[in-house]
Amino acid sequence: MIYRPFSKSGLVTLPKEAREFLGLDSNDGKIIIEQVGRFQARIVGLNSELDKLLPRRRITNKGQFTIPANILRSWGITGKGEVSFHIQEPYLIVSLVGPEIGCKLCESAGTLLGHPCIVCDGTGKMRLHPMGALGEFASVTMNARKFGITLHTEENDTGVPQIHVSGSLNLPAAYLKLVEIYFKSRLQIK
Ligand SMILES: [Zn+2]
Repeated sequence: MIYRPFSKSGLVTLPKEAREFLGLDSNDGKIIIEQVGRFQARIVGLNSELDKLLPRRRITNKGQFTIPANILRSWGITGKGEVSFHIQEPYLIVSLVGPEIGCKLCESAGTLLGHPCIVCDGTGKMRLHPMGALGEFASVTMNARKFGITLHTEENDTGVPQIHVSGSLNLPAAYLKLVEIYFKSRLQIK
């Protein structure tokens, strides 16, 4: 994941990897950007056959482009902010991200009981998610397999949401318990 700030008008600089992926080695390329989720958009290069009819954005000679105003509006953004870029063939995905803070689970240590922390991916830093704690839970859930952990929510018989954390043999039960307690508190589940 690569993070880049954008200005109040939505101007953002494409990371080098992203420009290479889009085949924008010349200085004045064009791209197509299209919203695909609540806080996500996808980008393809212009030579793609996929979206010939969609509006095009110009890439400046500094490798910058402007996130369209309608996308910024749908994100609820009126000032500057930050996005992340990642490649998901055949698209470059751009996602709105919240501010970076110290990890609340491992208290910025990056490790938890001697193992890499699942919430911050071992970095000690995490991003507040634009969708709040639920979004954070969803993104950690997606990354959990790498840690040998399964995370999901489920309602019990009386309709109260529960969090289930299970994991591989090389993680101590206390680690899984800490993850469970953390998300119970983040999601305000009793
Ligand atoms: Zn952490």
